Amino acid sequence: MIRVLLFDIDGTLIRTGGAGVKAFEKTFETEFNAPDATWKVKFAGRTDTSLVRECFCNGRIEPVARNFQRFFDTYVFWLHYLLAETAGNACPGVHELFGDLRQSDNPPLIGLLTGNIRLGAEIKLRHFDLWGIFEMGAFGDDHEDRNRLADIARERSGLMLDRKVPGDEVLVIGDTPMDVRCAEAIGAKSLAVCTGGATRGELERCRPTLLVNDLTEVTVEELCGL
Ligand SMILES: [Mg+2]
Repeated sequence: MIRVLLFDIDGTLIRTGGAGVKAFEKTFETEFNAPDATWKVKFAGRTDTSLVRECFCNGRIEPVARNFQRFFDTYVFWLHYLLAETAGNACPGVHELFGDLRQSDNPPLIGLLTGNIRLGAEIKLRHFDLWGIFEMGAFGDDHEDRNRLADIARERSGLMLDRKVPGDEVLVIGDTPMDVRCAEAIGAKSLAVCTGGATRGELERCRPTLLVNDLTEVTVEELCGL
């Protein structure tokens, strides 16, 4: 039985209308004078830290702690500003599913498993009134490797539940093959949704436990019974 839900953010809970990518572009343009650093970078399913490292390499910027700090200090400013300027939305079924989870008698622990840095995740989810439901999470500034993030999220859920949480009690919900792979990395189950960065065919090929078009197609009972 599933006792922990770990949600990806972009393409799974929300679509920011490109505000996240634009915030990256603006930060490289304004803070590093390197407007080309983000060219050809594939953003979906990646951790922010690994994206910044790739952009540093493209822009010939030294990948040192001081520059990561500079990047993220400016990035969160742009992200906050651009979210307000850009048309985005919560993905179909998200608010309804969370409404049902709130009313559930024995709800699972609700967490985040995301490549966004923690503050970036909070800014994005607050914008869509979705931050308050999450009890814990693992973020892009916890580790650069997304598969390691899954383990960190599982460890943190164990601290919250005061017991060791086996992988098969965890469900990872995401929109890319990377999300399915990071579920596999900890022996967790996976729910793939076609609301973001990958096609249905791409998601089918990586064999998630369950594949749906969007979150309107599942109930809390179905998720917890996987
Ligand atoms: Mg995603």
